[in-house]
Amino acid sequence: MTTQVSDDLLRACDGRVEPAGDGDAVLGTRPRWVASPGSTEQAAALVQIAARDGLAVTARGSRTKLRWGGRPERLDLVVDTSRLDALVEHAAGDLVYIAGAGRSLAQVQEDVGGAGQRLGIDPPTGGSLGGAVATAASGPLRLHHGAVRDLVIGMTLVRADGVVAHSGGKVVKNVAGYDLAKLLTGSFGTLGLVTQVAVRLHPVPQGRRWVTASVADEAAAGTAALAVAHSQLVPSAVELEVPGSRRGAGGGDPTGALGALSVLVEGHPDGAAESARRVADLLAASGGEDVQVGEEPPSWWGGDVAADHDGCTLLRVTHVLTGVTPLLRALSEATSGAGVRAHLRGSPAVGVEHVALEGDTDAVAALVQRLRVASGGFDGQVVVLDGPDDVRDRVDLWGPVQALGLMRAVKDRFDPGRLLSPGRFVGGI
Ligand SMILES: Cc1cc2nc3c(=O)[nH]c(=O)nc-3n(C[C@H](O)[C@H](O)[C@H](O)COP(=O)(O)OP(=O)(O)OC[C@H]3O[C@@H](n4cnc5c(N)ncnc54)[C@H](O)[C@@H]3O)c2cc1C
Repeated sequence: MTTQVSDDLLRACDGRVEPAGDGDAVLGTRPRWVASPGSTEQAAALVQIAARDGLAVTARGSRTKLRWGGRPERLDLVVDTSRLDALVEHAAGDLVYIAGAGRSLAQVQEDVGGAGQRLGIDPPTGGSLGGAVATAASGPLRLHHGAVRDLVIGMTLVRADGVVAHSGGKVVKNVAGYDLAKLLTGSFGTLGLVTQVAVRLHPVPQGRRWVTASVADEAAAGTAALAVAHSQLVPSAVELEVPGSRRGAGGGDPTGALGALSVLVEGHPDGAAESARRVADLLAASGGEDVQVGEEPPSWWGGDVAADHDGCTLLRVTHVLTGVTPLLRALSEATSGAGVRAHLRGSPAVGVEHVALEGDTDAVAALVQRLRVASGGFDGQVVVLDGPDDVRDRVDLWGPVQALGLMRAVKDRFDPGRLLSPGRFVGGI
């Protein structure tokens, strides 16, 4: 049977199917095959075989977020999207771009940069277009351009039964099928295999300034972030860096500050310079110290906080706008004397922070629990995106989930045989 399946997969995929090796394991679960389709049709043919033979399938982009989410319950076939990387269309006049799911975000930005445009999806980890959409991973520009689901205007996907479906289109106002693209955004590959994505672009403003201030404590960080978010100055991004060991805004000098807040303002060159001056005044008046204006971002801007801490546990913590101070205090109380170091980096004006935790397993697991208990104070969720195996064994990655019944019903409808990344998503979906 295995030989027959293997032959069928090879035929479906133009011979681009390999037996899997240890390096192809997803969180320790090793598949039997890795297939690299070169077209949506080939991807569909692979999934049809998987549906026929009950093979569990997980998509793989550039692997930057492959460890995010739960361990696959089972895994037979990895569909590698690296050959699904074609630039299909860049309609610069319409600010629309369409490419294969495997195209790297860096390449996308290069494709559109020449026309003075950009894609507002800039997750710290980079990765592929499909991977960013599947994990709904955003970065600093989310404040200005919206979340991933706001930027995706259409997609082509392969359903669990191997049928190709199209949702949305390249017309930004097209509403037909729009919800399918939104539904798949952030579903961690559990509802369909995304092969092509259409996104909306934005012009890159000509003037840019970063205004960076030290924040002495949790109250100052919250006050400054809120003041900027509520101001008329329309920043493009507001980023917070709290390294967890007291350092200065640049991350080097031991000034004793809690961390740094940095604000990106963009626009016409003169306008950006003027906005930067006003942001600087606002920060100085609302808790910021040592305020500096620059034409380059601080070194930590938009970076992957987990990359700075080998083997750490990575959390995504969400909060309401007024929740910055309560969250930072909860983090500080939970880490105090717990033997855990927490390095927070994120976007306080959109309410999404990433926190890298370092410490022994019991202490990290206890800290996640304590933060969840405190999460009422910042009205958010604490999700474990990634972590060592022993931490994964000790904590519920997603925490309490509302509407799980509805989500399970959606999963049953889309993938009744539980073939697509089973177990990867919230509630074991
Ligand atoms: C089986 C299934 C059913 C779905 N049903 C619906 C639906 O009925 N209506 C709808 O609008 N969308 C639905 N989705 C889509 C999914 O919920 C969206 O991707 C999510 O709403 C995106 O949220 P966000 O853009 O705010 O991303 P973020 O807030 O950045 O979240 C990122 C991802 O993590 C998930 N997540 C993380 N932690 C939790 C948590 N503790 N509780 C819940 N989710 C968490 C989010 O859903 C999302 O997928 C469904 C997805 C799946 C897989």
